Amino acid sequence: MDPKTVIVILASNLIAVGTLLMLIGRRMDEAQGMRGFATGSVVFGAAYLLRLALGHSSSGPLSVVPDAAMVYATLCYATGLRQFGGRTPLGRRAISAWVAVFAALSLAGTLLAQDVGRHVVLNGGLALTYGMLSVLAVQTTRRVTGTLQTPLTVLAVFTGLLAALTAVRSVVAATLGVSPLFVGLPAQVYYGYSTIVTVVLGPNLLWMVFVRLNDRLAQLATHDPLTGLLNRNGLDETLQRHFGTRPPHALVLCQVDVDHFKRINDGHGHAAGDTVLKGVAQTLAAQVRGGDFVARLGGEEFLVGCSGADRADALALAERLRAAVAQRRHAVAAGDSLGCTVSIGVSPVFSERAGWEGALREADAALYRAKQAGRNRVEAAPTSAESPA
Ligand code: GH3
Ligand code: MG
Ligand code: MG
Repeated sequence: MDPKTVIVILASNLIAVGTLLMLIGRRMDEAQGMRGFATGSVVFGAAYLLRLALGHSSSGPLSVVPDAAMVYATLCYATGLRQFGGRTPLGRRAISAWVAVFAALSLAGTLLAQDVGRHVVLNGGLALTYGMLSVLAVQTTRRVTGTLQTPLTVLAVFTGLLAALTAVRSVVAATLGVSPLFVGLPAQVYYGYSTIVTVVLGPNLLWMVFVRLNDRLAQLATHDPLTGLLNRNGLDETLQRHFGTRPPHALVLCQVDVDHFKRINDGHGHAAGDTVLKGVAQTLAAQVRGGDFVARLGGEEFLVGCSGADRADALALAERLRAAVAQRRHAVAAGDSLGCTVSIGVSPVFSERAGWEGALREADAALYRAKQAGRNRVEAAPTSAESPA
């Protein structure tokens, strides 16, 4: 295919993908970086078209415009990637300064060594910004967990190799002149590879954003938004996993209920009540071990699952939970903090999924006794009710 047609196709692809990213990102929060990705794509596509209109061998002062636009576009991708990784975007000033320095060097290069000067600066500048994108992708990979690491690693590899090849082009232009940049096998390899990167980049960015949104949906479906603890769905999944292991670990349930919580809401307001719930949730989560779990059953009721424990271990944990909550103060307003206590009912030990409902009932009955006995205390299901199965 004629190279000009290829460039038009690539530019149209970039502009179309950029527009799509813009539309998809309209309702997303800034932290997804979609605006940076979208602007980068559209500007890169427009720069390709402008370069085509000017002719790649034209080294008039105008050629600095598409060249600087490409550097600007790469910086837009970089700012999007920083936001995606939870960092501050590159400031307008930093981007303007970077582009201005590049434009000045490009004009100076063109004045001093025409085409050669221009291509040395263009490829050098792009290699630097592609390299920055690759480094940012690697850094972001370290900040995220699980499934998001794959698309970020793909991005880091693609842009890293592009940076290396573009740097080689800058050296080739400086030493052998510009013709090897456009003819011969190495030139074809470079254009082939940059075509692949151009085509893959948009879907790769979308892949990242969709993996992140998917993870968030899964998190929302299984966790309580106020406290971040497991909700009932998450609890079900955790139990399935727990009893899916062979041989299954024994489990003891501690049902935890905040004492006189209604008074906190009534006396200090619902927002203060929420702050207390978050604080209690954190306190409970901080006390348990790796294999244990903490869920919010609803309202001011929590469930702690103590894995691999016998009755004595579970009672000790329940007592630790009670004491930790009683010690903690919750800052509900400037200079105003309040404390609360919890009552806890401990179930018998059980090791089958079928024992779950019975254990929960027993924990609930024990909790009721703890409330009756004056609150801020732990009560356990009677020993005779323990089922070894
Ligand atoms: P007890 O010691 O017997 O457990 O008394 P209590 O006041 O803690 O129990 P009660 O069931 O009477 O009150 C629970 C209150 O929790 C009532 C409800 O409005 C409040 N509540 C439930 N969910 C939330 C929530 O998400 N945020 C806040 N702030 N309050 C909640
Ligand atoms: Mg209560
Ligand atoms: Mg309650």
